[in-house]
Amino acid sequence: MLKSEQYSIPYPFMLFDSLDEGVYIVDTAWRYIYVNNKAAEIQGKPREELLGKNIWELYPEAVETVSYAQAHRAVEQNTPVSYEVYYPLLETWFECRCYPIAEGLIILLQDISERKRQEEALRQIQARARRLIDANIIGVVISDMDHIFEANDAFLEIVGYTREDLAARRINWIAMTPPELLPLDMNAIQELKEHGTFTPFEKAYYRKDGSLVPILIGGAVLEKDPLQWVCFILDISEQKKLEQALRESEERMRIALKGSAIIVYQQDRDLRYTWIYNPLPGYTVEDIVGKTDADLIQAEEAAHLIAIKRRVLETGQNHQEVIKATGITGMRYFDLSIEPLRDGNGEVIGVTGTSMDVTERIELEHRKDNFISMASHELRTPITVLKGFTQLLTKQFEQQGMHEAVSMLKKMESQSNKLVSLIDELLDASKIQAGRLDFEEEPVDLDTLVHETVEMLQESNPTHVLHVNGATHKVIQGDKERLGQVLTNLITNAVKYSPQANSVDITLSTSKKAALISVRDYGIGIAKAHQKHIFDRFYRVHDPSTKTFKGLGMGLYIACDIVKRHGGDITVQSALGKGSTFTISLPLEKEEPF
Ligand code: ADP
Repeated sequence: MLKSEQYSIPYPFMLFDSLDEGVYIVDTAWRYIYVNNKAAEIQGKPREELLGKNIWELYPEAVETVSYAQAHRAVEQNTPVSYEVYYPLLETWFECRCYPIAEGLIILLQDISERKRQEEALRQIQARARRLIDANIIGVVISDMDHIFEANDAFLEIVGYTREDLAARRINWIAMTPPELLPLDMNAIQELKEHGTFTPFEKAYYRKDGSLVPILIGGAVLEKDPLQWVCFILDISEQKKLEQALRESEERMRIALKGSAIIVYQQDRDLRYTWIYNPLPGYTVEDIVGKTDADLIQAEEAAHLIAIKRRVLETGQNHQEVIKATGITGMRYFDLSIEPLRDGNGEVIGVTGTSMDVTERIELEHRKDNFISMASHELRTPITVLKGFTQLLTKQFEQQGMHEAVSMLKKMESQSNKLVSLIDELLDASKIQAGRLDFEEEPVDLDTLVHETVEMLQESNPTHVLHVNGATHKVIQGDKERLGQVLTNLITNAVKYSPQANSVDITLSTSKKAALISVRDYGIGIAKAHQKHIFDRFYRVHDPSTKTFKGLGMGLYIACDIVKRHGGDITVQSALGKGSTFTISLPLEKEEPF
């Protein structure tokens, strides 16, 4: 009973129990004589266990700490002390205040962990902000309603002011801002007042030298009263220059394409238009973007176009072709050039292309073809009549023994024959063009055909010996006359283009699936660049070495078409100055009829 009475809490002390601060009173021998609730809680021991005990005996480990030194200083110098201390066991920061009294010492312990945490967080933020400011990657300023009074080097660099200008408060952001842009700043300040930050926006400052610098600015409130804020400023001159360059280049392209009837576009992997310049006549950009060709042009034409583009997507190879497209303004011809579109990793992500409207050119070509076709028809009849009368006259003059006249008539006939074969070539070429070259199918003994043709040509080409080697022993289904025409063309070309040589070799052979006929000459040869064109209509090699050779550039075009119609192929191997070998390959089993 005595004990509890001795340590019963006097009434005024009971007030301490309501405090959120630990309160201890120790006597001059460092024994607890009072411990409030909070203090017992901090210590993690019931009050009874503490009262009467000597602090330093209870916590010998504390003897070495700041608490021991400070508590003794307070007592010895009879002065209040205050210090911050970390209790590792409790993982808590305390602010400790000691007040000496006659009976000993009052010790107050306040948990300041939260404050410490906030201080640490603030310190870290400040350190980071300082690093950002010092890194000078971005301009940072602190300003009030009219002046910038703190700025990092990056900002000074952007605007061309010096530290002295800053110190002398000569950096006035309102004066630096073009008047027409000030409303943007006023909006930002309004936003700043309402929300504490403002949405970054683009504006410009006048530099000290009077030039304008475009910037991006964002910021947040520092002080509310008087209002001060921190701003982050990025020089966007480079970006603006790039944007300008891009705009100019697009503008140049626009001007260049204006009225040129060239459509430029991009499509994604689903072949939907993502971008188009100079859309098809009758359509706007909006009509086309997001659509596919199937939505825009006639179904069959669209299917063909989509197939071409799919091939470009799959192979990554570009493609060029003249196509027909019937849109809302009718049928037009386009010269297409389609390229794969790749991303940064080289993956094909779509196609990009140009389509040039070549309707006028194609229509002109059609008119020209019609004219050639009509003209050659018209020429064919009188020339045949002329030939007939020449032959009649030849016979009559022969009977009358008029040899001179006969020889002249023979020359006339030979020239008429040349004219007939020229006209026939013209007729054939225009028939091919119109898809109307007729074929008559029959079994053709290839070896016989080659021997007969060579025999006939040998007579009219005495300058060269025509050698035939090998045999195919094959009979194929085909048009004998047309195949003879192909051979005639290749052999006469071989003779024509080898004026310095005296032989042409014709070789017959077979491969697994085809009969092969090759015609080799020892003439002028064909340069690589021309080789892929010589089968085109009207194509002739124009250089000094071929100047003297006459022709219309139709023979190989017709030959190639005839062989293709037989399901075969015709190829050339040649080296300039060394001669050429043309090889016809004809399939032994034809897959499709003519
Ligand atoms: P052409 O009537 O001009 O001979 P072709 O269509 O038969 O027309 O031939 C096209 C072109 O190919 C010729 O103009 C010529 O330049 C070239 N060529 C054809 N055959 C040969 C060959 N055997 N040697 C060299 N060049 C040839």
